[in-house]
Amino acid sequence: MQCPSCHSEHIIKNGRIHNQKPKFACKACGRQFVENPQNRISDDKKKLIDKLLLEKISLAGIARVVEVSECWLHSYVKQKYKDTPRQTQVRKKTKGKLVIQ
Ligand SMILES: [Zn+2]
Repeated sequence: MQCPSCHSEHIIKNGRIHNQKPKFACKACGRQFVENPQNRISDDKKKLIDKLLLEKISLAGIARVVEVSECWLHSYVKQKYKDTPRQTQVRKKTKGKLVIQ
């Protein structure tokens, strides 16, 4: 067995996760992982989720439609927003005249 991050074989057992599957930890990089995780979401599904996120549908609704856990969806969305640079942060200074409305 190898670490999914650094491919080291220096793996130790590190307890169990909620569904009793054994959890492992990599001694080399410290990553924790489960062997053959079953909740992998396919890229197709992620693309569909991306589209659904653009609609005004609740996360709970999306989770039901695409059959992922709400918990997973929350972390997915959180991750997505972290990756996307915030557009409101950079505000261009308007050059020239003041516009009075
Ligand atoms: Zn590792």
